[in-house]
Amino acid sequence: MGRHLMKTADAGSLSATDAGSDVTLAGWIGRRRDHGGVIFVDLRDASGVVQVVLNPEEEPASEEVLHGLRLEYCVQVVGTVRPRPEGTVNPDLPTGMVEVSASSLIVLSESDVLPFPLDGRTDIDEAKRLEYRYLDMRRSRVAENLRARSMAIRAMRNVMDEQGFLEVETPTLIASTPEGARDMLVPSRLRQGHFYALPQSPQLFKQLLMIGGVERYYQVAKCYRDEDFRSDRQIEFTQLDFEGAFWGQEEVLQTIELVARRVVKDLRDVELNEPIVRMTHAEAMRNYGTDKPDIRFDMRIADLSEVFAATEFKAFSGVLGDSGSVMGINGGPLGLARSGLDGLVSQAQDVGAKGLVWMVVEEEGSIRSPVAKFLSEAELREIVSVLDASVGDTLLIVADRTKTVLEVLGHLRLVVGKPDSHDELAFAFVVDFPVFDVADDGSLSPAHHPFTAPADIDTLINTPETAISKAYDLVLNGTELGSGSVRIHNSDMQAKVFEVMGISSEDAEGRFGWFLEALRYGTPPHAGFAIGIDRMVSILRGEPNIREIIPFPKTQSGADPLTGSPSRVESLQLGELGILVSPDVVASWDSEPDQEAASES
Ligand code: ASP
Repeated sequence: MGRHLMKTADAGSLSATDAGSDVTLAGWIGRRRDHGGVIFVDLRDASGVVQVVLNPEEEPASEEVLHGLRLEYCVQVVGTVRPRPEGTVNPDLPTGMVEVSASSLIVLSESDVLPFPLDGRTDIDEAKRLEYRYLDMRRSRVAENLRARSMAIRAMRNVMDEQGFLEVETPTLIASTPEGARDMLVPSRLRQGHFYALPQSPQLFKQLLMIGGVERYYQVAKCYRDEDFRSDRQIEFTQLDFEGAFWGQEEVLQTIELVARRVVKDLRDVELNEPIVRMTHAEAMRNYGTDKPDIRFDMRIADLSEVFAATEFKAFSGVLGDSGSVMGINGGPLGLARSGLDGLVSQAQDVGAKGLVWMVVEEEGSIRSPVAKFLSEAELREIVSVLDASVGDTLLIVADRTKTVLEVLGHLRLVVGKPDSHDELAFAFVVDFPVFDVADDGSLSPAHHPFTAPADIDTLINTPETAISKAYDLVLNGTELGSGSVRIHNSDMQAKVFEVMGISSEDAEGRFGWFLEALRYGTPPHAGFAIGIDRMVSILRGEPNIREIIPFPKTQSGADPLTGSPSRVESLQLGELGILVSPDVVASWDSEPDQEAASES
């Protein structure tokens, strides 16, 4: 490459084999050390870092320029790669064998003093990081996450392409899609008082594409859900969305498996050789107390109700008499002191248990537990056998309504069993979800969107609380990565399902009449899925929250500290939209001026 280029090599790519070659580098000053006369700087670009030696006596630039170099100045350096002198090799740096001896240095752009150091050694407040995300991403943590994200998306696209999927974009200004969250709305100027919704997912469009004869569709789709914040949620997120016609569950799961394998291979350089474990929703609940089991460790929940069928212990017999359950887990050799065990009891109570019975198996099969004296020898022996316990194991037992028992033990299982390491990856498919989640008061709420096919329509109509749907989830290390289903492909069935879901036929006609009509033009059977890309990459990167993986994320309260969104707009703009902000809201602005208002004045 000729010298006319602003750079001829990437700083992070230089190695011993480049020794002797002339290079032009461009990047940022990461660190500088003055060693009387000679100055060493770390020159960083997107590829990494290399040490540059600036010797004013060799006139790479005027002394004034060199001594004036500050952190994050953007510079161009021409120089020669040479092996580092003995004793100065840095084994921690990929380019640590070499340095670049500069023959010229030009400052391309100076930098103000930074709001926080970029050295990676300092903990920086997240709000500050987000306010200066463009500086934050010069740090290796964010930079590497961005690269991993790009790699994951590329891997996904490659698989989709190889499998013959067509990438189709769907609109983001749409009529509402019911995924169960609140819509983000966009007012229309041309039709005042009317609103677009941002898609909660491209669900109905992908189904229309199937009706339209596109047999395999995919998209890296932005989705928007106005939900309350949690660490693994953002109002705006990205999914790998796909759908296949003449497909059922099996084709979808196999496609997900191909995607998962490729992404893991590309990001982690790990081959997933075993097929992804499959279990039904009922099995997941029974064994792990959750629909997103972390199966990096087994520790299944065991039903002890039979053991205590005739027990004299009132706490257990009362619950069993009320058709509740007694279940337990073997937490293994936890070696907890009394305070640690008490801690588990309060954790169990925090998630809804009335209490928690702990037992520690001691030498010669004797059991230490506050309730041991209320239980018979035979019962104690049975517990040990059902929970397959050995000396030193701590057993945790809960007696309550079955739903509570499973929830509590599902939670404790994660507390006592969770591996610290993110190295291990345990994918699972959970299939045969119920159509409805049943709340404590017996009320039903749909577990998936209403376009999901029920396994059997009669059960759905007659005993909806027990009905199963053709819906499935992908789980990784105890986190739901995505969900999908076989869809309803018949208009009458769709109308019936709306009805059971509590959507009246007028309402359905008003909101989805166009879709019910579309279903009447020879709709192929179809099925699909969507994988949350932010979550998948965050787990593969071992990041605790998805904000680390999103290039420009929002805070927990949905704000962007960098651009100041959401922000107020001029009344003129609101006027064009026919919108008047309520006087109460305006009054609340007066008492707390926001950033936007401050910069306007
Ligand atoms: N639209 C669903 C979602 O976003 C995924 C699907 O059913 O394909 O969760």
